[in-house]
Amino acid sequence: MVWGMETSSEGAAEPAQTAVDTAAEARTVAEAAAETAAVSDLVTGSAAIPPASLSPSRASDFMQCPLLYRFRVIDRLPEKPSEAATRGTLVHAVLERLFDAPAAERTPPRAKSLIPGQWDRLRETRPEVVELFADDPQGERLARWLGEAEQLVERWFTLEDPSRLEPAERELFVEAELESGLRLRGIIDRVDVAPTGEVRIVDYKTGKAPRPEYSEGALFQMKFYALVVWRLKNVVPRRLQLVYLGSGQVLTYDPVLADLERVERKLLALWEAIRLATETGDWRPRPTKLCGWCDHQAHCPEFGGTPPPYPLPVGAAETSAQPVEGG
Ligand code: SF4
Repeated sequence: MVWGMETSSEGAAEPAQTAVDTAAEARTVAEAAAETAAVSDLVTGSAAIPPASLSPSRASDFMQCPLLYRFRVIDRLPEKPSEAATRGTLVHAVLERLFDAPAAERTPPRAKSLIPGQWDRLRETRPEVVELFADDPQGERLARWLGEAEQLVERWFTLEDPSRLEPAERELFVEAELESGLRLRGIIDRVDVAPTGEVRIVDYKTGKAPRPEYSEGALFQMKFYALVVWRLKNVVPRRLQLVYLGSGQVLTYDPVLADLERVERKLLALWEAIRLATETGDWRPRPTKLCGWCDHQAHCPEFGGTPPPYPLPVGAAETSAQPVEGG
C-alpha cells in the first residue's frame, strides 16, 4: 500500500469557504438519511429529546454558533438542500461504490458511469433534493452540475489510485463511549489497513483545501475519528488523510496519543457547555460571516427573528453556555 504524503497551499481556500465546504460535506449519504428521519420526527410531532451524543459536524456547529446547534439538534428545523452539499453527497457515493468493482476496473470512465445511478438513488432516498432543479426545465443547470461532479470524480484519480487500494471499511459508522459517558459517533469515509496493521483514516472533501494556517480546524474532524478508533480498538491510527477534490490536494497528519488526549479534553469541555445550554435553554447566537450560509436567519435574534418556543424543560443550572473555540 502506498500512502500519499503531499500537502500544498496552492489553490487553498479562505477559512470561511473552508467552513462552508466542511459544513456542506458533513453530510454523507447515511448521515443525510439520519437527519431526514429526524426531520420526519418533527413533522410527525415526536417529542424533542436532549442531545445524547456528539458527531464532528454537530461539534463544529456548536463551536461556530450555539444557537445554530440548537436549531439543528434540538428544534430540528428543516434546511434547504444546497447544490454544493448534494454534489458532495453524490461524489462520496460514487467513490464508495467504485470499490465494489474489481481493482483493475476502477477507472475514471467506470467511476463516471456510476454518477447517473447514484443520482437516481439520491433522489429516491432524499426526495427534497429534486427541488434543487425544479426551476430548470431544460435541464441545463442539472447538466452543468453533473459535469462538475464528473470533474471532481476525475480529479480523485490524480490524487489516489483506487486500483491499488483495498479499503478495510467504507462509510463506516463508528460510535464510542468515553469514561464520562459522552458518546461520540460519526461516519468515516474510508479506513485503510496496511499489511503491517497500521490504520489510515481517509475523508473526501469536494471543496478546496484550507490554507496551512487553518489546517488545524480541518483536522479536527479527523482527530475526532481517530479518538473514536483509539477508544474502540485501542489503536492510534497511523495517518489521517483529507483528500480535497476541489483543489486537487491531499492533507495528511500523523497523530500521536497526546493529540487524541487533547481532543478528548476539548470534547468533554464542549459537551459540558452543551449540557449547560440544554439545561438552561441559553443558546447564544454567535454571528460571523458564516451567517450568510445559515438557513435560520428568520429565527435568529441577530437578524430580527425569534426562535421557536424552547421544546425542552428548563432547569436551574448556574452557568451560561459559551461558544467553545474551534480548532
Ligand atoms: S444566523 Fe448566524 S448567529 Fe444566527 S443562528 Fe445562524 S449562524 Fe447563528
